[in-house]
This record gives sequence, structure tokens and C-alpha cells, in this order.
Amino acid sequence: MELLVATNNPGKMREFRQLLAPLAGPVHFPPHLGLVVEVAEVGATYAVNARLKATAYAQAARERDGMPPLLVLADDSGLEVDALGGAPGLRSARYSPGSDTDRVTYLLQQLAGVPPAQRGARFRCVIVVAQPDGEIHHAEGVCEGVIAAAPAGSGGFGYDPVFYLPDFGCTMAELPARTKNQVSHRARAVQAALPLLQRLLE
Ligand code: IMP
Repeated sequence: MELLVATNNPGKMREFRQLLAPLAGPVHFPPHLGLVVEVAEVGATYAVNARLKATAYAQAARERDGMPPLLVLADDSGLEVDALGGAPGLRSARYSPGSDTDRVTYLLQQLAGVPPAQRGARFRCVIVVAQPDGEIHHAEGVCEGVIAAAPAGSGGFGYDPVFYLPDFGCTMAELPARTKNQVSHRARAVQAALPLLQRLLE
């Protein structure tokens, strides 16, 4: 059995490639298999959305001739800001129109005047692994931080330039990719899922 990671997000693909490097077999991504699947993220939780993505890609792969049996991994993730009642949360990718930079600007506008002590936030990532027989597994990772007053750094993607990590004294976008992949919400979710993935891909 081989692994398909159900994301087209270039930032996530880069990270998953590193995070899943300990696995023995190949790790596939939809663009490399020519799989084009539109998934409406209409779920009320990260877990439901991740499951929608995993099962939609699993079905598309099953319908494709010549595809090996695939284990499908999907993640749904978001940024939860305390002073905004947990927003943008599930809506992180579509919090405002435009690019990641536009959404960072919009987030900072929403937090104008909020003092550092009240700018607590966390990234959350839920991973769903779908077996070919339909069995589903979940793993979750959380990374705590603070929303900075201004963006800094050019690594990572999304809200990384304003996600300040007090333990490191810098934003997620200022961390080397290797370090982000040790402490991020996605890294923690993958670490939790790795024993299962190793067993299923044996
Ligand atoms: P989704 O999981 O495809 O719904 O998208 C999650 C959205 O949350 C991304 O588009 C980013 O805006 C944000 N996000 C998730 N993970 C990260 C991360 O590691 N760094 C920065 N932003 C992230």
C-alpha cells in the first residue's frame, strides 16, 4: 500500500514531505498523480473537514485505473485567536479575500489596540487517515503562540509571519523549516499518526 497526502497547498506539501520522510514507501500528492478533486469544506469541525477531504480523494483514486491501493491522509488546520473568540478557526483559509499576506493584514486590523497579554492564539491541525476499506483514524496537534504586532520572517506560509513563539523569541516564519517541523501543530499531529502510518504501510 502507498500513501496519498490529500492537499494541493504548496506550504503544506513541503512540510508533509519532510514530516513523512521517516516512512518507508513513496508519499504521493494529488498534482503528481493528476488527481483533481474539489472538496467543499462545509464541516462544522476540523475533523469533519479532514474526513471530507480524505474520503473524496480516496474515492477519486479508487476510480482511477492502474492506481495502487492507497492510504489517504488529509489535514484540516486553522488559527484560533483568543481575543477573536477563536476566529478565524475553521475559516482561516478564507478569512478575507486575496492572498495569505492580505489575510495577515486583515487579522492585524481586527486586533488593532489589543495588548500583547491578550493576543494569545494557537494553531490546530487535525489529521484523518482513511484506509482503503473505509476505516478512519484521527490525530491532532496544537501549537500555542501569540499574534505579533507586525509580520516578520519569510518562511512557512499562511499566518506564520505573525505567529510569535515566546519560547523561540521569533515568529514561525523566522524559524528554519526543520525547527517548524519539530514544534508545529502539523508536526505534532504527524508525530501522533506516525506509528499508525508505519504499521499500515508495512
Ligand atoms: P485548510 O486546512 O486547507 O482549511 O487551511 C488552513 C488554513 O489555516 C491555511 O490556509 C492557513 O491560512 C492556516 N494555516 C494552517 N496551518 C498553518 C501553518 O502551519 N502556518 C500558517 N498558517 C496555517
